[in-house]
Amino acid sequence: MKRLMLFAVLSAVLVAAGCQDQQTSQKENTNELTEKKTEYQQAAEEETAVEEEPAEVKPDQHQKEANDVIGTIEEPVTVDNPDSIEVVVNKTRQFPDGWAPKDLVEPDVPFYFNEHLEKRKMRKEAAAALEELFAASQKDGMELVAASGYRSESRQKQIYEDNVSAQGQEETDKVSARPGRSEHQSGLAIDLTSAEMALALEETFINTDEGKWLADHAYAYGFIVRYPKGKTDITGYSYEPWHIRYVGKDLAKQIHEEGVTLEEHFQMESDLKS
Ligand SMILES: [Zn+2]
Repeated sequence: MKRLMLFAVLSAVLVAAGCQDQQTSQKENTNELTEKKTEYQQAAEEETAVEEEPAEVKPDQHQKEANDVIGTIEEPVTVDNPDSIEVVVNKTRQFPDGWAPKDLVEPDVPFYFNEHLEKRKMRKEAAAALEELFAASQKDGMELVAASGYRSESRQKQIYEDNVSAQGQEETDKVSARPGRSEHQSGLAIDLTSAEMALALEETFINTDEGKWLADHAYAYGFIVRYPKGKTDITGYSYEPWHIRYVGKDLAKQIHEEGVTLEEHFQMESDLKS
């Protein structure tokens, strides 16, 4: 009987002790959880703080830098490297007033017209590259035809003003560059077409053998398709599978592999929705 009593008392103590242990360990766990939560919250707060800090400090600086290189349609930036084959000219980046390339020549490739017009010209390096591109395309059985290369600022002015008279400025700005902002003024850009396209410059060019060949091979000769599909917000222009731009073989290869626009490559994207 005594033994039994002792057992009962011991059990009660043990149970009570066990219970307490449990309570303690639960409390400890709770503390651990609280601590963990606090650590987590702290980390989250620190993370937020890290994210917030540059957002508070950088915008003005970043915006200023951005405006220096990107510009806006109403206040374009004048490029400081108009002679570079890597020059980025678009709706917000213009050539210096009256600028023209000094080394224009006529590439020896088929054009759709016979006259020696200004638009037959390209800068020397680009013209040589175009001849290489045409030779390779002809070897592959393609029949590309050149439509329009260099365009002077004064010619662009005339085209732009004619378009504004015909369809208003808003519509014109969607398809035509303002004077000083056409890539054709660089002497590094050219529009190509084919007999199958009846010499038209239209998006359906990409469905022709010539259009596909150009999209796949232009980079190997130093050219990029300057206004790719789905990049209108960045380039400011709808898809133009016919408009290629000489940037040199190394850069063309990089841009082709990256699958980006010239603006994205140089991190000069601005909001060019039009
Ligand atoms: Zn063009």
